[in-house]
Amino acid sequence: MAAFLKVLFRNLLDGPSTDPFPLGETFTPERLRGKCVVDPELCVGCGVCKNVCAAGAIDISPKADNSGYSITIWRNSCCLCASCRHYCPTGAMSISNDWHSAHKQTEKFDCIEQQNIEYEPCSKCGTLIRPLPLKLAQKIYAHDPELSPDFIRHLCPKCRQMEDAMRAARISKQDSGAKIADSAQAALNQPAESQNSVQTA
Ligand code: SF4
Ligand code: SF4
Repeated sequence: MAAFLKVLFRNLLDGPSTDPFPLGETFTPERLRGKCVVDPELCVGCGVCKNVCAAGAIDISPKADNSGYSITIWRNSCCLCASCRHYCPTGAMSISNDWHSAHKQTEKFDCIEQQNIEYEPCSKCGTLIRPLPLKLAQKIYAHDPELSPDFIRHLCPKCRQMEDAMRAARISKQDSGAKIADSAQAALNQPAESQNSVQTA
């Protein structure tokens, strides 16, 4: 009895050693898979996340006036597999460590992550598009330092192709011009003797 009272007294002095939640803050590991979140700045509406979601938890629907689309994640259907995050080409999809998902049965259809995303006009032809995220454009066009990623990312795919094709044509024209100039220079630099021998041969 004395030993028991000793332990009891010591525990009362030390306080609880278990997680204080819900009476206090709890520890959440940084990489814990909680709620899926979409960054509207990075999403281009490609639909990859919707296609890879085995739980069918993602919906992407165009707006009635075609001015954009909405992307919705049904949290009650999401099984936190993280495939959407893995396959999202722009890094728009992430999984936060916010695990607070308890809700009343009547609120089950309100447990969603939803972003309404607007299209923007292509800076050349005006077609409505989602601009490429800057980081992605910088990666794709890193081979061409003269091309401004910020300019190219605001073009629609068709205008981007045209821009690429025109630049390629300009570069090849410059290359062939440089080759002709080089051979003309080489001919001029030939010694007079060898030029005469060529003329009299
Ligand atoms: S979240 Fe990513 S994968 Fe899903 S539509 Fe947007 S860009 Fe595409
Ligand atoms: S984590 Fe898995 S189940 Fe949840 S939305 Fe992403 S792909 Fe679907």
